[in-house]
Parts: sequence; structure tokens; C-alpha cells
Amino acid sequence: MTDLSLPTYDDVAAAARRIEGHAHRTPVMTSRTADDQLGAQLFFKCENLQRMGAFKFRGAFNALSQFTPEQKRAGVVAFSSGNHAQAIALSAKLLGIPATIVMPHDAPAAKVAATKGYGGQVIVYDRYTEDREQIGRRLAQEHGLTLIPPYDHPHVLAGQGTAAKELFDEVGRLDALFVPLGGGGLLSGTALATRALSPECKLYGVEPAAGNDGQQSFRSGAIVHIDTPQTIADGAQTQHLGQITFGIIRRDVDDVLTASDAELVDAMRFMAERMKLIVEPTGGLGFAAARRMKDELAGKRVGVIVSGGNVDLTRFCALLAG
Ligand SMILES: *Cc1c(COP(=O)(O)O)cnc(C)c1O
Repeated sequence: MTDLSLPTYDDVAAAARRIEGHAHRTPVMTSRTADDQLGAQLFFKCENLQRMGAFKFRGAFNALSQFTPEQKRAGVVAFSSGNHAQAIALSAKLLGIPATIVMPHDAPAAKVAATKGYGGQVIVYDRYTEDREQIGRRLAQEHGLTLIPPYDHPHVLAGQGTAAKELFDEVGRLDALFVPLGGGGLLSGTALATRALSPECKLYGVEPAAGNDGQQSFRSGAIVHIDTPQTIADGAQTQHLGQITFGIIRRDVDDVLTASDAELVDAMRFMAERMKLIVEPTGGLGFAAARRMKDELAGKRVGVIVSGGNVDLTRFCALLAG
């Protein structure tokens, strides 16, 4: 049975046309050493080299470029301390839309600065006493702003799916594809592209071992909520999947796997040393899980989405040294 309310591959294809010339078509990298270690052929889709440093620019730009003239005039609001905030701020700047970003008072100064640098108006809140969703909704109501959530939105997830579309367009069909998983925008969009362009490909979401709500949800068939997980993968510290993202993930994904923080650091070290790539901890989830599946992947063509590279260099060095 197809659920007519869920986005489809046509939405991903339309998103690809909207972001063309605005988002980077990121490189697909290979590594002979990685291939030798796994006995497979690996293709790394490098979204750490996307504008603002993560795939989130794709979904944000796709969503904002569909605003009506009235929505554009009034502006957009988003709540996020991470890559979604920067993606909204940059997309809004490019499209001439005022952006308001609600961030916790203790958000890293570098992230606040980056968001302001893209022209976003930052509103801080106390994460211990205030509810960011409430603040976001109130701003939306009082000022007529349009709220764009980080993952559970059809235009956002369709935009995220364009990274996988580019990967398949470039390298053809794959036997397996590994995708970092937080709230599921990237994975669900990737699923739409995968089922259309490489239908037999095994598709795996990968989340931090400390917070496997996605795995529990996938295996039980109902969205499981957890406390904010303690992990270095700050881009995947979500407490639950979205309604729309889960609908697609349950239908189109083969399994949800996990990776430990130690495995993430090993993956980051490999990509830095061997591929000269700076990858944030969350961006290493896919590769970390693939490295554990040597036996299943032998002789196969394997895709890995490297989702982002926004990590403070001091922290990067500390993680690799630790
Ligand atoms: C947001 C993010 C994720 C998780 O994406 P979802 O769409 O929430 O599943 C993974 N990696 C990076 C770098 C991110 O910024």
C-alpha cells in the first residue's frame, strides 16, 4: 500500500532542480586503502564539503525557495544549535528572506557567530528553564514567521535526498548504502532516491550507540522516545524520529545500525589520515558501521554518506588524541 501523504522521488528530483547552482555538487571520493581493508569498493559522498559544511543546506534551501512572496517578506524561524541553524541562515540570506534562529544560551560561540555571520538574527533562550519549540511557535504566531523544522518536513527531507541522487547519478547502482541518522530527514530522503535509482540496494541508517531510538523504532514499528543521548555525535542527539521520516524509513530502509563513540573516532582518524577529510563525529557514523560489516560487504559496491564536517579544530584534535 502506498501512503499518498508521504513525499516521493519526484519531490527529490524537483528539489535537485531547485538547488542546482546554489548547492555544491559535492565530490564522491574513493580510497584504495579503505577498499583493501573491507574487500569492497567504497564510494564516499562528501557532504562535509557542502556549503556551510553539511548536507542540511540542501533541505533548507529547498524549503525556503518554495515560500510564497508573503512568507518571504515575513521571514523564517528555526530552532537549532547546530547545522540546521546555519543552513537556514545561509539559505535565507541567499534568497533575501529574514531569518530568526532560536539557540540555547550556552550554544558554542563559533556556531552563534557562524549563524550571525550568515545574517541570521539569533534569539537565545535558557535551555534549562525554557522550551525552544514554544518560543519558536510564539515567534511564528506573533510575527507571521514560517517555522522550518530540522527534519520532519516534506520539503526538508526531499532536499536531503538530493545527495544520494547525485551519488547514484555519478556512480550508478550500489549494493549497500550507509547513512547517518538523527531525526531521519537525511535517511528518509535518501530512501526515496535509493528505491527509485538503485532499488535492490541495501539501505542502512546508522545512529550513535548511546541513543538507538531509531533502531528501537524501526524494529518495533512505533516511534520510540528517549532522553538526549550522551555521545560525541552532536548532530544525531535527537530524542525521536519524525512522523513523516519514520513513515518512509519503516517502509524503505533495510535496517538501523549503531556505532560507538570509539568507532566514530577511528572512522574520523582514517578519513583524516588517508583521505585528508575533516569529518565531524556524526559524519563518521556511516563509515564506522560499514567497517564492522566486512563479511557481508565483501566484493560489493558500497556507498557511504559523509554527512558533515563542522567540528571545532581544537575539539577534533582532542578527540583524535584522546
Ligand atoms: C543533522 C545531521 C545529521 C542527522 O540528520 P537527520 O536528518 O536529523 O537524520 C547527520 N549528520 C550531520 C552532520 C547533521 O548535521
